[in-house]
Amino acid sequence: MTTDLELAAQERGIKYFLVSFTDLFGAQRAKLVPAAAIGEMVRAGAGFAGFATWLDMTPADSDMFARPDPATLIQLPWKPEVGWVAADLWMDGKPVEQGPRNVLKRLIATAAAQGYEMKSGVECEYFLITPDGTAISDAADHQAKPCYDQQALMRRYDVIAEICDAMLALGWKPYQNDHEDANGQFEMNWEYDSALITADRHAFFKFMAKSIAEKHGLRATFMPKPFAHLTGNGCHAHVSLWRGEKNLFHDEAGELGLSALAYNFLGGILNHAEGFVALTNPTVNSYKRINAPATRSGATWSPNTISYTGNNRTHMVRIPDAGRFEIRLADGAVNPYLLQAAYLAAGLDGIASSTDPGKRLDINMYEDGHTLKDVRKLPLNLLDALRAFDKADALKAALGTGFAASYVKLKTAEWNAYSGAISDWERAATLDC
Ligand SMILES: [Mg+2]
Repeated sequence: MTTDLELAAQERGIKYFLVSFTDLFGAQRAKLVPAAAIGEMVRAGAGFAGFATWLDMTPADSDMFARPDPATLIQLPWKPEVGWVAADLWMDGKPVEQGPRNVLKRLIATAAAQGYEMKSGVECEYFLITPDGTAISDAADHQAKPCYDQQALMRRYDVIAEICDAMLALGWKPYQNDHEDANGQFEMNWEYDSALITADRHAFFKFMAKSIAEKHGLRATFMPKPFAHLTGNGCHAHVSLWRGEKNLFHDEAGELGLSALAYNFLGGILNHAEGFVALTNPTVNSYKRINAPATRSGATWSPNTISYTGNNRTHMVRIPDAGRFEIRLADGAVNPYLLQAAYLAAGLDGIASSTDPGKRLDINMYEDGHTLKDVRKLPLNLLDALRAFDKADALKAALGTGFAASYVKLKTAEWNAYSGAISDWERAATLDC
């Protein structure tokens, strides 16, 4: 469905449009465009200097244009006179290859040419913390096992309900909100949809949660591991492939209700996990979530190894139900577009190669994982993950070699900035050597 943005502005009282795009590091950038000028922006795009964002460009490059996709229009629930529109990046008359939304759209077109549509749902976890970022905002939220804590959930009712009311009004079909496993941590779930719609909503959800938290004098953070002793922020994704109204992953006669096609897709996910973890877990901090010791609540709820299972939350992939599986790898820092693109690229390759995922492991990985000899480990840090991605030629080709080169270049620079900084830990451990 397309929307005439000029008409929408008149009918809905929109005074300004936020023409928004997500850069390689997942940061959302925008121009605030008066409604009177939006028609020209749809035609030509809003101009940006790409180098000034996290994109692999130089100050000498041409103007980059963000062309709004009118179908994505959302009136800000907390400021209805502003309309948010996701935009696609263009430069010199061509789509920008490294633009994350362009990367996902290319993969979706590849899947469509094979008769597949990926649908997915994401589970966004976040903490509500103090505005200065140093502590959980609710001092009374200190239970050792705070998951589903009714009292702590209701102390944040005003924030949670405002976000959920917004999702209801937007037609996202939210269906539950809870206090998660860490003190100060929450999760809100809305219905799954086609991968691009979920990616756009995921991007908007982060913007909305942060904005509504700020309105209430709080700060929402999706940082993968903001507190060392507490469970981190995951971003679990449930995926399935469809053709029209038919879920191609569903087969009642298949093992755990999954079709042979689903197992091939899963084989691709497992086969390429070392390669795409640099995308799904994109920050230095990400590796402090997936390779963490047990937290105060008793578990990290995040994987360390590349394995799958049935309805068991201690593995990278869980099959909770017929017709879909849950990939528990990505974290709150993931770029919403690259998340979907990475899984789709890996899964399609699994189908093309008829990849066998092997036998599922029905063990408690947290307790008994050490007894397995052959299980592959996830990378221990961002640098190892980037090196693995850089060697994953098939995955890079599927995502776009230009995109992949830009991503590795900028993220390696980020790693170098991190490793060049001298931390408090280093000083404490080494000052008296
Ligand atoms: Mg959760």
